[in-house]
Amino acid sequence: MADIRLVRDDLRPPTAPRRHLISIADLSRDDVERLLATARSLARSLEREMKKLPTLRGRTVINLFYESSTRTSSSFELAAKRLSADVMSIKAAGSSVDKGESLKDTALTLAAYDPDVIVLRHPHIGAPNLVAASTEAHIVNAGDGKHQHPTQALLDLYTIHEQLGRIEGLHVAIVGDVLHSRVARSNIQALTLMGAHVTLVGPPPLIPRGVEAMGCEVSYDIDTVRAADVVYLLRMQRERMQEGAAFVPSLREYTARWGITPERLRPGQKVMHPGPMNRGVEIDPRVADSGEALIVEQVRSGLVVRMAVLYDLLTRGPVEVKAAVAGEVA
Ligand code: ASP
Repeated sequence: MADIRLVRDDLRPPTAPRRHLISIADLSRDDVERLLATARSLARSLEREMKKLPTLRGRTVINLFYESSTRTSSSFELAAKRLSADVMSIKAAGSSVDKGESLKDTALTLAAYDPDVIVLRHPHIGAPNLVAASTEAHIVNAGDGKHQHPTQALLDLYTIHEQLGRIEGLHVAIVGDVLHSRVARSNIQALTLMGAHVTLVGPPPLIPRGVEAMGCEVSYDIDTVRAADVVYLLRMQRERMQEGAAFVPSLREYTARWGITPERLRPGQKVMHPGPMNRGVEIDPRVADSGEALIVEQVRSGLVVRMAVLYDLLTRGPVEVKAAVAGEVA
């Protein structure tokens, strides 16, 4: 099958009392199709001059970020605002976390405001589960250590589908520091769930052993990227590398052997990167600025996909979103 299946009008999100988005593994193929269809409908609302929808009026979204972020935090904030929710964005630096407050106590403090959704980014794997257990809010994982970054994977699926017209049957090469990448883990799961073929490409120390069990292939030869429809680049995540561990001899050598230059690509291959990019390291500036790079489209997709995620957790799914976009629901 060459395309995403159409979502039936009566297909509703599950009615479990309090749903979260912590891992791509929590989602079925129908869930992903529903979220992408909702994002597509919401994208239409952003084409208007008046871009705000009233649908989450009176709801509260808290963004709690314990790690730096530009794209994810700004797009969750704008997504909540575009849906008329009240939104608070808290960064660990400058908050009581600096004074030694634990994640659990911060969560309990914020829970006193009865938030509907807490969007959490944290360096520790499992932090979203801890907040889910300590509050009544729906939790959205905006990145936990090297474990998961589910909204990144969803926005990548959305971008691929919008740009290439399908996901099923495509070949995606994920290149670079897979070992420390939550983006790679989420994307391998999401792409294989939707029927794409994934090859991980990089130096052996940066590819986790046994990762093929996730349903992907592994190659230690950079030339294999030429076989892919989409080349997805990862940043060298030095902040997550163990101190003193030498995964590659030097960044210069990494760039020479694994950096993506125009010469290493075939004409027409699409290039993606979750950001932040290290120009001149994993990506040649000529590739980053080329017409085949979908990096700005990924950021644009992030807004509508995060709107869809908030919407899906708090409302009744595609039926309501269609009505809202058509201006029928206040
Ligand atoms: N922004 C992505 C993340 O938070 C990718 C990266 O940092 O390289 O995981």
